[in-house]
Amino acid sequence: MNLEHASIAMEPGGQAHDAIGAAPMPAHLDPWERRLLADPDLLGDLAFAMGGPFHVMYPARVAHNIRAFHAAFAHAGVHGTIYYGKKANKAACVARACAEHGAGVDVASVGELTAALAQGVRGDELMVTGPAKADDLLWLAARHGSLLAVDDLGELDRLAALASPGAPARVLLRVLPAASASRFGMTSGEIEDALAVCGGHDSLRLEGFSFHLSGYDAVARAELAGALIARCLHARTLGHPATTVSIGGGFGVDYVAAEAATKFTAEVGRQWFHSGKSFDSYYPYHFPAPGAAMLAQILEYEDLARRLRDNAVRLAIEPGRALLAHAGCTVFRVQGSKTRHAHGKPYRLLTVDGTSLSLSEQWFDSEYLPDPLLWPTRPGEVTPTSVGAATCLDSDMLSWRRVPLPRPAEVGDLLIYPNTAGYQMDSNESPFHELPLPPKVVLHDAPGDRFRWTRDS
Ligand SMILES: *Cc1c(COP(=O)(O)O)cnc(C)c1O
Repeated sequence: MNLEHASIAMEPGGQAHDAIGAAPMPAHLDPWERRLLADPDLLGDLAFAMGGPFHVMYPARVAHNIRAFHAAFAHAGVHGTIYYGKKANKAACVARACAEHGAGVDVASVGELTAALAQGVRGDELMVTGPAKADDLLWLAARHGSLLAVDDLGELDRLAALASPGAPARVLLRVLPAASASRFGMTSGEIEDALAVCGGHDSLRLEGFSFHLSGYDAVARAELAGALIARCLHARTLGHPATTVSIGGGFGVDYVAAEAATKFTAEVGRQWFHSGKSFDSYYPYHFPAPGAAMLAQILEYEDLARRLRDNAVRLAIEPGRALLAHAGCTVFRVQGSKTRHAHGKPYRLLTVDGTSLSLSEQWFDSEYLPDPLLWPTRPGEVTPTSVGAATCLDSDMLSWRRVPLPRPAEVGDLLIYPNTAGYQMDSNESPFHELPLPPKVVLHDAPGDRFRWTRDS
């Protein structure tokens, strides 16, 4: 996983500040989201049809994100391959968009592998990652000609026994970065042993090396990619066809503008939160060079692009979150609305028809900060509003923060959390309270600037 929170530290207690309503954190909205919000009927009709919370996916935006990564490779003159990190969202429409637009998929289970195949991603377009993979997964991946990022020597031995010389397993060796405390990847000594194992088995074909770093640092990725080019050249001297370096995922997403993020960090304190709640850290919701722009930075750093070209090395990337940037949102219906007071000032405390599991940040003891949007839009008075879930847990809150909604929310209104497709939607959902899992609605462009929709399979 790659969901770093360290960037925004919160002062416990915050600054002396008597406003009980938090500063706004308006999310960047994509044109398709503006169209959806401006449509007088569609959101209300969808909410009526779904009868509970739901996610909205717009796969055309995934296609746009794929094209942007391809353009960054083309601009740098680098042979590059995208493998979508599938754990970031289970929607079939995303795997389908990958198949249609020339991206592969990075999977880590038999379920993810078969789901990708079912959407038309071919076996040789799959990358299989994850530690100590199950024999079933190794066997299927070898059968389908997928690339396997092998994480330890025992796994390599099992793979050698499962694959056959007629159709050798395509192997990347996952490297443990120097000075990393990660539980994934192999040390330099283990890599040397793995090279020998590959050399000793006709059922293994060593195609290169991989890593995946937590955090979002372009320079660290560029430096390690350079080191893996050297490993490829060394492996070639031993007779291995090592031509691929995979630098994993961790391409940032820009959720909110710099000014909003800066103001939040400077002023945040318990006075902004229902029941005086505080969090130690938040995800870095502002990211200046997101997605393909970050790839361009990596390729430019010390002319990595030229070194890849000169040595005929293909660069693979495994973006999860960044491939889903601005490709989905999550809709709840307001089911209850109370007035509460803090420091003598009133605020709204809502109950919506779903749970915080559909926003996932409780996994990190944190909350999702981009402001939800209230629908329909009507004139009114800005109202500090916290948002609770339809469960019997006091701590199940979607927004502890008193979000400055543009008017008082009423029962029947919709609350739309923007930009939730990457990890926020379905990573943690469970049928808690026997509530149904929120369905995913897929929007397609139709003639006449209209949307048509289906349910994701
Ligand atoms: C999670 C993961 C990814 C995707 O990471 P993002 O931060 O979503 O881009 C890619 N590769 C590996 C090995 C992963 O574990």
